[in-house]
Amino acid sequence: MNLESRSAAKTKSWTVSERMAAVRQKNTRPEIALATELAKLRRVMRRHDASLPGTPDIIFPRARLAVFVHGCFWHRHCGCRRATSPRSNAAFWAAKFQANVRRDDRKARKLRTVGWSVFVVWECQIEKDPSRQARRISAALRRRGAVHDKSARPTSRARA
Ligand SMILES: [Zn+2]
Repeated sequence: MNLESRSAAKTKSWTVSERMAAVRQKNTRPEIALATELAKLRRVMRRHDASLPGTPDIIFPRARLAVFVHGCFWHRHCGCRRATSPRSNAAFWAAKFQANVRRDDRKARKLRTVGWSVFVVWECQIEKDPSRQARRISAALRRRGAVHDKSARPTSRARA
């Protein structure tokens, strides 16, 4: 698969909404692979909850942990060889990538402001070992659970 040349070739004909769709695709292959592994660990999750800032890909309401599955190219996985930069329309792509990264930061900040933890998993990590990523999230959930038990927060507030 040559994402770089394919994306560059399509640049001129893409509408804004098509480009946005490419950035925020739901149920991507890595996302499904991760959700499947989390289900094997018997983790109860919800997908694409639009009531939360940024509509996280996977959420764990009780632990208030939000997971984003990021494509390495669109979301600029630092140091990853998939985060290539197309040579044609370089300025367009630079602005596009910067906007994506800023949007990701904004979403994470908003979620943290309302008491959620944010966990980012990259597509290359999932493709390499989906069950390892699921175990990392599971460990984060255990830590979050411990924090919440200590604070003895009324459970009725969690679903506000
Ligand atoms: Zn990557």
